[in-house]
Amino acid sequence: MKAMGPIPAGYAGVDGELAIAGKPVSQWIAKAGATPLFVYDSARLTDRVARLRAAMPERLAIHYAIKANPFGPVLKHMAGLVDGFDIASGGELAMARDAGFPADRISFAGPGKDDRELEAAITNGVTLNLESDGEMRRALAIGDRLGMAPRLAIRVNPDFDLKGSGMKMGGGAKPFGIDAERVPALAREIAESGAHWRGFHIFAGSQALSAEAVIETQAQTLALAARLADEAGVALPHCNLGGGFGIPYFPGDEPLDIGAVGDALGAAFANLPDVLQDCAFAIELGRWLVGEAGVYLTRVIDVKDSHGEIFVVVDGGLHHQLAASGNFGTVVRRNYPVAVANRFGEEPAQYAQSVVGRLCTPIDRLAEKVALPPMAEGDVIAVFCAGAYGASASPAMFLGHGPAKEMLV
Ligand SMILES: *Cc1c(COP(=O)(O)O)cnc(C)c1O
Repeated sequence: MKAMGPIPAGYAGVDGELAIAGKPVSQWIAKAGATPLFVYDSARLTDRVARLRAAMPERLAIHYAIKANPFGPVLKHMAGLVDGFDIASGGELAMARDAGFPADRISFAGPGKDDRELEAAITNGVTLNLESDGEMRRALAIGDRLGMAPRLAIRVNPDFDLKGSGMKMGGGAKPFGIDAERVPALAREIAESGAHWRGFHIFAGSQALSAEAVIETQAQTLALAARLADEAGVALPHCNLGGGFGIPYFPGDEPLDIGAVGDALGAAFANLPDVLQDCAFAIELGRWLVGEAGVYLTRVIDVKDSHGEIFVVVDGGLHHQLAASGNFGTVVRRNYPVAVANRFGEEPAQYAQSVVGRLCTPIDRLAEKVALPPMAEGDVIAVFCAGAYGASASPAMFLGHGPAKEMLV
């Protein structure tokens, strides 16, 4: 047997069935009409933002990095909860606008913004987090041509990274951001260009569960912002401190202590250097806000035995939930939290079962050799932590089965 990650707090059974938002999953499946299905719980999204606000200093704005889950109804719900949306493409800009989110609270990061994306951002008044000096020159030229002053911030490639984070996105040579030593000169150039100078965006990594690591990174981020603003000799109107708050996916993972992070940030805000006194601060989170609110439901089509290993074949797979198969930014494959939704709370079988998707590739495994109740055709498997980097981060076109349904409840 191999262990699974912990089922997120608060999921419980009703009459032996997993409940989402207080109702058994069979009701949600009946409403959607079919599996595979992602169900997102709006009350959990609301609760998550409220918990974060309670833990963080009041001065800190909360942004949602919409690439974690850009499903329209989720965006509309989040739009009423957070202070900003962070986007990473022209397509995400359109989604954010469709959700009714005000453009002046959107910021756009991402290497390789093309001229059409820059123009759409400038026309809408979205803040561009510049990823290179070339991008700055193109943005200024487009602004000139349109007769509009672009809102420009610099995404800084910090000279450190978030320790213990799942994905390293800062420190050393990176395609993201502008190396710290080149930032002061560019900041001056922007401030003198007639563009709206919007400060810094400093993102050092993702999926950290250690409060100590997040606290250290935030301290380094504030120190870097202060040093660069000092060197540039320009005031800093805004600084996006990045994010990196992780959620437990795997055996042994413990939730991040956001209370400790908020306390440390509050103390740091109380002792800011002069150059940051008037600066507005934000963090940008994706998975921490939405990951645990989503469950992927997929039905058992077949159960088979091969050389003594039991394979439970479901009607979904990695084409909807790539991350749970272990092929989205993880080095070693480990099991996400998984349950048999219609046998919730039943005793596990004495033998191991592997849940596999229906794709013709050996990497399509949603759970490997796990202890779950004996499964049969028609059972429904629930994969937790599916609210972030699920439907939109999986190759839905692969093998032609098509996308899963999604619903916000
Ligand atoms: C992906 C990304 C995020 C969100 O990351 P999570 O781990 O989901 O919180 C935030 N900021 C930037 C710049 C990103 O690329």
